[in-house]
This record gives sequence, structure tokens and C-alpha cells, in this order.
Amino acid sequence: WKRLTQGLTRTASNLSTGITDLFTKRKLDATTIEDLEDVLIRADLGVETSARIAEVVGKGRYDKEIEPEEVRGLVAAEIEKVLAPVAMPLVFESYAKPFVLLMVGVNGSGKTTTIGKLASVLRAQRKKVVLAAGDTFRAAATEQLKVWAERTGAALVSRAPGADAAGVAFDALAQAKADDADVLIIDTAGRLQNRAELMAELEKIVRVVRKQDPTAPHAVVLTLDATVGQNALSQVEAFQRVAGVTGLVMTKLDGTARGGILVALAAKFGLPVHLIGVGEGIDDLQPFAARDFARAVVG
Ligand code: GDP
Repeated sequence: WKRLTQGLTRTASNLSTGITDLFTKRKLDATTIEDLEDVLIRADLGVETSARIAEVVGKGRYDKEIEPEEVRGLVAAEIEKVLAPVAMPLVFESYAKPFVLLMVGVNGSGKTTTIGKLASVLRAQRKKVVLAAGDTFRAAATEQLKVWAERTGAALVSRAPGADAAGVAFDALAQAKADDADVLIIDTAGRLQNRAELMAELEKIVRVVRKQDPTAPHAVVLTLDATVGQNALSQVEAFQRVAGVTGLVMTKLDGTARGGILVALAAKFGLPVHLIGVGEGIDDLQPFAARDFARAVVG
């Protein structure tokens, strides 16, 4: 909770200052409601959600003075209503052994770091974990995953740079089965600029994995960098088309002023938000809690 509020300080200070400036000794009328809507839009909450929240705040208290603190409370309550339905933990169902998790996301969105953090959590639960270095395009990606595998005691399956990513995924699942592993996490390339190629690659990964286990992958999780703001919306659309995303992880919520984007995402897509990243460290992956987030975002 402390990490979350600290991390969201910049988002919160925008909203909090905006609301305080607006409602200090001013009545709640058409002008202030419109101004409140602007403050919410600037905080990346999305146009529709901002309009609805402003309207709800306006109702009942119209033409009366209202304390900024009360407005913040009302806004937080409305944000929580948007977020509550999507706050869902990532459950590594034990019926699937191994549970196959396909991680997707653009380069730099925090995919590899999130895989490392997840491996750490799973290893702490004494789960056997295999990591597949499916981003064969960048040698550095494999190197980075190797470091996480060593740090967490997960097994790593990789091939030389330029190798077929689906081949890596196939081998990794075979090894995970042979080793009786609990979870296989497949890293993938994030070259969204070459969408057709990426789509073909992800489709092939899914196809070869299904040859060994028709129920796999059991989850397709998209990592989104909070600092990209509204751009996250088009990333979700793109990856939904190429990979059939089942859930989201939002990274880099620490130190960004754009944390409100999570509210816009929840309202627009309704995809489960599993986890949030609030730092680069191994312990900086947190479960997503709607109420905590709503309160932290408003300040
Ligand atoms: P990938 O290209 O998607 O695999 O992204 P990486 O996992 O390599 O992450 C890109 C950069 O973002 C690295 O420097 C990470 O340390 C950093 N990063 C990842 N998650 C977070 C986070 O939650 N907070 C912060 N501040 N940095 C993060």
C-alpha cells in the first residue's frame, strides 16, 4: 500500500491539486462540473469515464458548496466502481501442468522484468518454473531472461539469436513436461512495428504449444507501460487482434503522472488486470486492488 501510494504520487498530485484548486470556496455548478471533467480527462481517465464521474459528483450537491476532500472521496468511489470488476489475480490453475503463460507486449514495456518477478513469486511458493526465451530477435532479451532464471532458480530454455521462436516454445514445453514443472512462462518478441510478422510468430507459438497441450496457452498476459498514457489503448487493441489477450499487467506505475490510464483501460476493455509494477526490483510486482488503487490515484 505504501509503495503504491508513493508510486502514484505524481498521478495523485495532479488530481488532488486539480480538485483542491477547483473546489476551494466554489460552488458545485455547471462550470465547476465541467472543470472537474477536464481535470479528470487530463489525468488520463478517459473522456467517457470522466464525464460520468463529473456527472455523479454533480448530482445531489448541485448549487451547494462542497469540500475538496468530499469531491476526492466521491471521485475515488466512482473510480473504484470501474476498477472492481477487472481486479482479478493471475491464478496458475493446477489442473494444467505445466500451466502455460504466454507473455506479450511491446519492447520496453517491462515484459521480461515482469516474467522475472513472477518467477520469483512462484519459486517462493516452491513451484517448479521453466522460462522460454521466445524473443529470439534480441540477444539482450535472452541474456536478461537468463539472469532472472539464475536469480530465481527457474530453468531456462533458449536458442541462438535469430532462431525460430516457436521452436523455443515447443522445446520449452517438452522440457517442462519432462521435468514435471508447474509453470512455463514464454517470453515473446514485441515488435509491434512489424505487425504481420509478429502476428505470424505468435500464432505459430500458439500452434506448436497446442500440439503438445490442446488447452495451452492457459493465459496470454499483456504488459503495458503506464508512462505511455493513452497509447496503451491502441496497444491493447493491437495485441488483442494478434494474440487474444486474457489479462493485463501494468508496469512502471511508480513515478508516472499517467496512472489514470488504468481506469480508461478498465472502462474500455474490461480485461482482467492481474498485477501492477511499481518498481524495477524483484518485489515490486503487486496484486491489483481496486480500492487501494482508486484511493492512491486520487491522493
Ligand atoms: P521488455 O523489453 O518488455 O522485456 O522490458 P524490460 O523488462 O526489459 O523492461 C524495460 C525497462 O523497464 C527495464 O529497465 C526495467 O527495469 C524497467 N521496468 C520494468 N518494470 C518496471 C516498473 O514497474 N517500474 C519501473 N520503474 N521500471 C520498470
